[in-house]
Amino acid sequence: MDDCIFCKIANKEIPSKIVYEDDKVVAFNDIDPKAPVHVLIIPKEHIPSPNHINSGNSTVSAHIASIIPKLAKQFDIYDSGYRVVVNCGKDGGQTVGHLHYHLLGGRNLDWPPG
Ligand code: AMP
Ligand code: ZN
Repeated sequence: MDDCIFCKIANKEIPSKIVYEDDKVVAFNDIDPKAPVHVLIIPKEHIPSPNHINSGNSTVSAHIASIIPKLAKQFDIYDSGYRVVVNCGKDGGQTVGHLHYHLLGGRNLDWPPG
């Protein structure tokens, strides 16, 4: 997608602090962190939102699920705990139209979220 900021990050057209990358996904630090650890994990493929996960593209979600504990170890939040958030649409608070998984940790996180 030409005008998608996260596609541009995945393609290295705009800078980001990449903390993990493979052929299917990129993970980078959130530009406006809500916790001491705030990493965004995205598929390189442009999937607009959780509404667009289907049987044809869902393997990347399983792949991301397998990367999360590795990132948790990398950021030393594996034992202390963390939260994974995927926002969808207006009421879900999604502001970027490219599927992304927030990995948050490093402090005690409020629950329930606002
Ligand atoms: P959401 O509200 O779930 O769509 O989350 C979008 C997230 O992307 C927010 O936490 C933003 O701070 C983050 N974000 C927006 N632009 C960038 C960027 N250029 N680099 C890193 N994170 C970004
Ligand atoms: Zn995109």
